[in-house]
Amino acid sequence: MNSAPEPANLGAKVNLLGLDLKALEAFCVERSERPFRAAQLLQWIHQRGIADFDQMSNLSKALRVALEADCEIAPPVIVREQRSKDGTCKWVMKTDAENQVETVFIPEESRGTLCISSQVGCALECTFCSTAQQGFNRNLTAAEIIGQLWVAQRELGVGAVTNVVLMGMGEPLLNFNNVVAAINLMLDDHAYGLSKRRVTLSTSGVVPALERLADVVDVSLAVSLHAPTDALRDELVPINRKYPIQQLLAACRRYIGQDPRRKVTIEYVMLDGINDSPLHARQLVRVLSQLRSKVNLIPFNPFPGSDYRCSARETIQRFSDILQAAGLVTTIRKTRGDDIDAACGQLVGQVTDKTRRTIRLSAG
Ligand code: SAH
Repeated sequence: MNSAPEPANLGAKVNLLGLDLKALEAFCVERSERPFRAAQLLQWIHQRGIADFDQMSNLSKALRVALEADCEIAPPVIVREQRSKDGTCKWVMKTDAENQVETVFIPEESRGTLCISSQVGCALECTFCSTAQQGFNRNLTAAEIIGQLWVAQRELGVGAVTNVVLMGMGEPLLNFNNVVAAINLMLDDHAYGLSKRRVTLSTSGVVPALERLADVVDVSLAVSLHAPTDALRDELVPINRKYPIQQLLAACRRYIGQDPRRKVTIEYVMLDGINDSPLHARQLVRVLSQLRSKVNLIPFNPFPGSDYRCSARETIQRFSDILQAAGLVTTIRKTRGDDIDAACGQLVGQVTDKTRRTIRLSAG
């Protein structure tokens, strides 16, 4: 697991976009600047969206010149924008010469949700996810993660993004430090000032990292369960072979702690004939009796090369009814942006696959 932020290239400018308050304070002190400069920098960079040091008028001219010389504010670059009929907007953002990730904005009446990526590709091999089919190249830096929000705010205006979900490409808990730095910036009042309940980290269940997360941030948690038994989950979400359901649920319980108002969102993709029977629903009820949770059923979004089909509408409804009858708050996720391949599990970007998975798959 990655335990240190990605090192900056030697000789390259420091990208201030990815530094949270603590890191920026340390950076200021190192340069013999007063620590309160960090908050000022955050406000310029993230609240105002300013990338040009010369416009930062409450900093001394000398400091502005010094920053200009060896720092930069370098966001990812939009290379493609697609708008869905339903208003969903998908951006392909370039992170380096060979790699691109996808970011999706989902407008609703009372909120605007930005779905951001944490890795270029994904190292996990969930069988129903198209990002998984692409293999994995590298972790995004903190600047590349928060940069997706920075760019979205520039495109949409301040206030348009009210919620952020770490549900794009990648497994956020396998890029721990960079994801935490980005979350700190989302929550910081000098930066985006989002409420911690409006930031959701979704994980397939990297248990040791989930244990550590509770000590450093307190955002909402979503877990990709997708199956009520270990036998089935071992197949669909292979990381389950390492961290089976009971361990995962125990880590979830510890994460939400004693507060009776907190719940974990359980994500459950509806795969025709695989995990969608009434028996599965009853098994799920039993499993979740040990955790304060609500369930979000996700209609499977197909992608080229996948053999799965989405469960019929009535099957999803019946599944939902069984959960509801047992007292579980259950919602069916509205599929958004599927006409532009922006729906869950359809994000692919462009990944230079270091796992050679694409080659293994095409060899059959
Ligand atoms: N790696 C993290 C973040 C991805 S979140 C995680 O696994 O939670 C994206 C959500 O969409 C996850 O719940 C994922 O399992 C689900 N998903 C993946 N492929 C899908 C597909 N083809 N159709 C519907 N949901 C899918």
